[in-house]
Amino acid sequence: MSAQTRQNPQQPDSPRARQRLLAELRQQGIVNERVLEALDAVHRHHFMDSGLAHCAYRNQAFPIGHGQTISQPAIVARITQVLLLEQPMRKVLEIGTGSGWQAAILDWLGLEVFTIERIAPLYQEVRQRLSRLGYHRTRTRLGDGYQGWPGQAPFDGILLSAAPEEVPHTLFAQLRDGGVLIAPVGPEGRQRLKRYRRQGMQIKVDDLGAVAFVPMLPDVQA
Ligand code: SAH
Repeated sequence: MSAQTRQNPQQPDSPRARQRLLAELRQQGIVNERVLEALDAVHRHHFMDSGLAHCAYRNQAFPIGHGQTISQPAIVARITQVLLLEQPMRKVLEIGTGSGWQAAILDWLGLEVFTIERIAPLYQEVRQRLSRLGYHRTRTRLGDGYQGWPGQAPFDGILLSAAPEEVPHTLFAQLRDGGVLIAPVGPEGRQRLKRYRRQGMQIKVDDLGAVAFVPMLPDVQA
């Protein structure tokens, strides 16, 4: 044990804090063991500023700069669990890479991940981070998620990590028949998490409850 470890029990990599968080997630209904394993394996402190890293295993969203946040563990776990209920689930598109934590979790679970970020400096940072941490398979792009990633469609799953007022139709068009899109939808303070399933030309929707995400904004920001 290093001197630093002894002096600072709130070190970033705190296995005990992580176990507490996993226990809390189980209590909140996360039953998929693969999802829990992924949250245990993909260390959230690697995706946060070093100044906040000691808080990484709290069940809260935290700032990552540029007015954005790393999502709350409970919500990442829940969305991942809902996504994995659908089979086959191999190729997924995420809108709103942010810190890259959600993308890394999906990558760890063996999915082929395509993820889009609209804020250029966040995109540069997350690209380097994912590569440094060894998530080489995940493909990142600087772009406007409202356009999706047409060259890679269709996707088995699409997940929005930022909330639009309405899901753009472009994204439904990039979902395979039988695929699911999970998104927080609505204005700040009144967002609902929704699951949309494409069945032929029809879209079936389920409401999964109230959530709080940053808004999904148009265009790329330099
Ligand atoms: N899952 C991420 C969430 C980051 S917050 C994490 O845990 O870190 C949501 C991100 O969505 C922000 O970085 C924001 O810039 C991005 N975003 C918002 N609107 C977008 C759009 N139209 N296209 C791509 N990214 C968008």
